[in-house]
Amino acid sequence: MLKRLLRRWRSGRPPIRSLQVEVSTLCQLACVYCPRTVAGSSWPGRILAWELYEKLAAGFGLFETVFLQGWGEPLTNPRFWDMVALAKNRGCKVGFTTNGLLFDAAAAERACRLGVDIITFTFAGATAATHQFYRAGADFAALLGTVRLLAATKKRLQAAKPLISVTYTQMRGNVRELPAAARLAAAIGAGQMTCGHLDCILAPALEEHAVFLNPAAGDEQDLVSAAVLARRAGLVFDAEPPRMGGEILVCEPYPLRVTVFVRADGTVVPCHMMALPAAAIERLYFRGRPYAYEPIVFGDLAQQPLAAILANAACGQLRQIFTARADPAVSAGAAIPDAPAFCTKCYKLYGV
Ligand code: SF4
Repeated sequence: MLKRLLRRWRSGRPPIRSLQVEVSTLCQLACVYCPRTVAGSSWPGRILAWELYEKLAAGFGLFETVFLQGWGEPLTNPRFWDMVALAKNRGCKVGFTTNGLLFDAAAAERACRLGVDIITFTFAGATAATHQFYRAGADFAALLGTVRLLAATKKRLQAAKPLISVTYTQMRGNVRELPAAARLAAAIGAGQMTCGHLDCILAPALEEHAVFLNPAAGDEQDLVSAAVLARRAGLVFDAEPPRMGGEILVCEPYPLRVTVFVRADGTVVPCHMMALPAAAIERLYFRGRPYAYEPIVFGDLAQQPLAAILANAACGQLRQIFTARADPAVSAGAAIPDAPAFCTKCYKLYGV
């Protein structure tokens, strides 16, 4: 396997689209839907050590993009900008998601000068009341100002990058504001809007906020209106549908083809759903029922380089399952291999 990865690397085609790196599990906010908030004091606050990141960088050539995002605010890592610079120097596209709280004028200038490819700002409403209800501790007006500041800095420096993106977590209490959010994203200078779902549910009370579990008349229409408004304003628009469907063959993170996730403690896992700290999370909920949180862990950077981890048996097994499920010949009546047990209770496997 390692030989195949290296062959594709040398041929100029990074075999995996995105390396998601959790550089911090700390955050200043207490979003009501976030696993950090639900876990409370048992949540381990961690910063990815610079030494581990340097070790990780030896494998950057296997990836098209290094995306600095995990279950925390990336800019709380004191070496954050060094991490961005290192990934850029290795020739990767670089992106990150932020709550905007530490993103000031100096950060905007740095991002433009380093050629960061994409920066995503997280929204949970198109009004201060809604956004601040879901994202406790946030300042909606300040966030709008931060996005405008980056747009103005790009213009002043005549920088083509970063692409400014707004990610909007669709929840029962904010879907009606989707069209307004699309207008707002365009007005503050975003070039992209993506609308995902609350898909990682740690407490039964949070299920009422999941749109796909509690569909209502008008959900589709609001999403379509937002898409039309966004596209008219020149925004790239991408959204998960508001309903849950049947089992799909390959989830959006498509481990080892689209994503590999490195946690702040240096362990390597398939995706964000398996990246929660096991010491703090005992169970997740799927359609009202709890299930034990038992993620697949591929390996530990402290023990092995990334390329060796990606060539091990655990990776090989998962790769084989998803590759077989993604094979177009499967739809011709052949048996479809079962998804891993953990995945069968993940909403991502149902198109959410
Ligand atoms: S189905 Fe869910 S848990 Fe399984 S790989 Fe995809 S995102 Fe991860």
